[in-house]
Amino acid sequence: MIKLFYMGPMFRYERPQAGRQRQFYQFGTEALGSMHPGMDAEVIAMALQIFERIGLVGLKAEINSVGCKECRTNYHAVLLEYFRNHISQMCPDCQMRLEKNPMRILDCKAKTCQPYINECPEVIDSVCLACRNHLDEVIKYLQLMGISPVLNPRLVRGLDYYTKTAFEIRDESLGAQNAVAAGGRYDNLVQDMGGPATPAIGFAAGMERIILAMKNKGIEPMKKHNLIYIAATSEEVKDKAAVLAQRLRANNIPVELSWDKKSLKSQFRHAANINARYTIIVGDSEINQGKVMLKDMTKEEQQLIAVEELPDYFCVVPDTF
Ligand SMILES: [Zn+2]
Ligand SMILES: [Zn+2]
Repeated sequence: MIKLFYMGPMFRYERPQAGRQRQFYQFGTEALGSMHPGMDAEVIAMALQIFERIGLVGLKAEINSVGCKECRTNYHAVLLEYFRNHISQMCPDCQMRLEKNPMRILDCKAKTCQPYINECPEVIDSVCLACRNHLDEVIKYLQLMGISPVLNPRLVRGLDYYTKTAFEIRDESLGAQNAVAAGGRYDNLVQDMGGPATPAIGFAAGMERIILAMKNKGIEPMKKHNLIYIAATSEEVKDKAAVLAQRLRANNIPVELSWDKKSLKSQFRHAANINARYTIIVGDSEINQGKVMLKDMTKEEQQLIAVEELPDYFCVVPDTF
């Protein structure tokens, strides 16, 4: 089982349009190595959880099955049969798609094509028993996790390598283009590219649309909540504060301190501004005994703690890291 994620700028070849720039930012995850429907549910649940963490609550997970290779052959035949009678009234792109890959017709946004697409047979009616069972199991696992997916029999993916589960996470505040993440299974892709047979599932999310959704809902970007601020009571102990910062950072604990702020009051104000979770107060007499004052910024509590204990303390506070 391999689980991966990525994040960064991406580039698309197709012509740019409103909300679809040539360069955009995307993050995504891929889980390779399992056929189990529980894996699908886990990936969908994770996508929803990521959005919840940034404040986008109440998003809908739409789900469908696009079937396996055999189902696909059946469905192509069904679509060919259906669209044959309508294709002369449809757009030139769709006329090309009918011969090459009739499933792509379902993605067509042309107005003239919509009435025919709306009436066309659904992929879910062409999937085999194994694929249908897989979908039912994914839904079952999601429901066990407290998620109510919406079965959308019209949902297909624009790329041909997808198999079985297809899903989109939608935010209804965004209007027509409301998918903030989309993904699915691609059980044959690794093998088709020359690798060993490797089932897989993943999703990608476009950051521009996520930012738009956050703006629509007035959600502020989350401030760093893990941050530890180190305040020094005097210029004389700044060196001790610096050594402590270095030590905590070596333990992967994010630390901030101010070189130019003199008064404790202005340092506390800064700690509050950067939303520090804890403030460590390095004072003359305490630090000489190997101790510092630790202030929990959420509880307005403080305690004297040995410098030695700090790395372990921060690593065991469960809601902090
Ligand atoms: Zn199938
Ligand atoms: Zn069309």
